Amino acid sequence: MKICNSIFVVPLLFIVSPLFSQQLFTTTEVKSAMQKGTRTPNGEPGKNYWQNKGDYTIHVNFDPASNLLSGNEVITYYNNSPDTLRELIIRLYPDLYKKGVTRLSEIDEKDLNEGVSIDSFQIGNETINNFSDPGKAFHKNTNLIIHPGEYILPHSTVKLSVRWHYTLNTGSPVRTGMVDSGSYFIAYFFPRVSVYDDIDDWDTWSYNGTQEFYNDFGNFNVDISVPKDYVVWATGDRLNAPENFSDKIIKKMKIAATSTKIIHVIDETDYSKHDIFSPTATGTWKFSAKDVTDFAFAISNHYLWDVSSVVVDSSTGRRTLAEAAYNKIHLDYFDVANQAHQSVFYMSHFYPKYPFPFNHETVFDGTDQMEYPMMVNDNPTQSHKDAVQLTSHEIFHSYFPFFMGINETQYAWMDEGWATIGESVISPLMGEPEDEGIFSKKRYEAISGTDKDVPLITNTKLYSDAAYLSNSYGKGGLCYYVLQDLLGDKLYFKSLHQYMNDWNGKHPVPYDFFYSFNNASGRNLNWFWQKWFFEWAYPDLSIKNVEKSGAGSKITIENKGGLPLPVYLTITYSGKIIVIKYTAVVWKDGKTVMSLQTKLPFSVIDKVKLGNEFIPDKFEKNNTWIKNK
Ligand SMILES: [Zn+2]
Repeated sequence: MKICNSIFVVPLLFIVSPLFSQQLFTTTEVKSAMQKGTRTPNGEPGKNYWQNKGDYTIHVNFDPASNLLSGNEVITYYNNSPDTLRELIIRLYPDLYKKGVTRLSEIDEKDLNEGVSIDSFQIGNETINNFSDPGKAFHKNTNLIIHPGEYILPHSTVKLSVRWHYTLNTGSPVRTGMVDSGSYFIAYFFPRVSVYDDIDDWDTWSYNGTQEFYNDFGNFNVDISVPKDYVVWATGDRLNAPENFSDKIIKKMKIAATSTKIIHVIDETDYSKHDIFSPTATGTWKFSAKDVTDFAFAISNHYLWDVSSVVVDSSTGRRTLAEAAYNKIHLDYFDVANQAHQSVFYMSHFYPKYPFPFNHETVFDGTDQMEYPMMVNDNPTQSHKDAVQLTSHEIFHSYFPFFMGINETQYAWMDEGWATIGESVISPLMGEPEDEGIFSKKRYEAISGTDKDVPLITNTKLYSDAAYLSNSYGKGGLCYYVLQDLLGDKLYFKSLHQYMNDWNGKHPVPYDFFYSFNNASGRNLNWFWQKWFFEWAYPDLSIKNVEKSGAGSKITIENKGGLPLPVYLTITYSGKIIVIKYTAVVWKDGKTVMSLQTKLPFSVIDKVKLGNEFIPDKFEKNNTWIKNK
């Protein structure tokens, strides 16, 4: 089909809403941050920007016979804030499975347990033994609140030593737990300091199994001890592979490190020949990861392991390992390493066109559809299409939230929205287009315009179910799609990359994103942010009229729902078809009606249709005009 504007003369006629304002509503938290100079109206981090940090040295032991996970960790916590911290909030995510804790996820009775037992706890020189003392240390759902004897002063560091244990869930997987009797995905397993930031102070949110995560960056050094017949995959670089793997496996790993072809590093023969582990294997696997927001690991005594590597940065030749670890009975998984390879390639070079930020990405055949830094826990899928979409979606999260330090709990569209558009752009490149144009578009259309279609700026903590899914995925992803269409590829990627360069490793909030794009694009996009984020607008463009106008015709389109969307018009005339396109800029400054003048005589026009498969529309009926109907 030909896309051509040549037969159109386009004097756009607008009706402007007199109430339009170019200033975005700014929350008091963000106003305060701007006054303190931690955030700026130009979207760059302020000169007083700070964030806290926790470094973790952990030794964790997992016993598959008892499902007991026990750990010993030292946290070095850096209070880089200008504030004195009189309390410390420790997150105990495994307490999602603790009896009596408030949660949204359904957990089988048999998977409920006593939660995390703290065997010892030291902060600075102070030892705390009693965790039910409201004045000193106490549990509040999945958080442990500590009032240290010595306050944590601004720009100071405190060391915490914690020993702990709990029983891993064998059923009711919520992003962690047993996969089968020889395979486990273990996440959110270690006590960690919550986030104290310049916007909200302490993040006191209790994990309920629905909203996702918000964590500070830190360096992780983790030793994982498991029975010697288990392989471990984890966030971070492997530090002692030769201590545990046989020479044969090490040799294959080395080949894979520079091979674009997939190497079956562990195959069925390796199991049958008992040729996977070193005769002197210790069963303790060491990993190290710098500047990541989380650490997860997975183990199996029977999974196959496919690895290849991708050049992610053409200028330096840097490579990322793309891996899949899987059960041989899940046939869809035989292609997942290939999908991971392609995903990492397309993300680095096509969308978001930014070198993949980690040294490896391992997709583990698991129980969920969940991302962790450098790790993915994906259930097997029914079709190749499902596998491609799922793999590309979860790997896309490497950028958002992990590279960018997004507060997913509060701004899920800054995380899931990107993974949604990423999946929808990349899956077709891998031969599997989205059925709905953009993943979850239909779900957004269904809810749009209802009282559940809350403005995107609404804090994700405050809603769940349909509103959560729609805003986080479909509407978030569509917004980025419309934004790219509006700015054009060059300006869009320039703006996106400036945002990513300015905020990676930090904690951007929505206003940082808005103002970063305004600044980088050189355009004041507040009219766009206003409608997409702050108003009860929904997608509904309609053809108001098609009429004779001089020697040609005039087509009038009304934006009934108020959401700025691109206009795609397919005009059928004299047995031919022409498509004409305008970006959402036609709705700039609150305009609600646009008209376009065409040289096509009214007598030859048979049909005019609005929209394409990417553009949502609540009421498609008013998108078509047919002569004499
Ligand atoms: Zn996601």
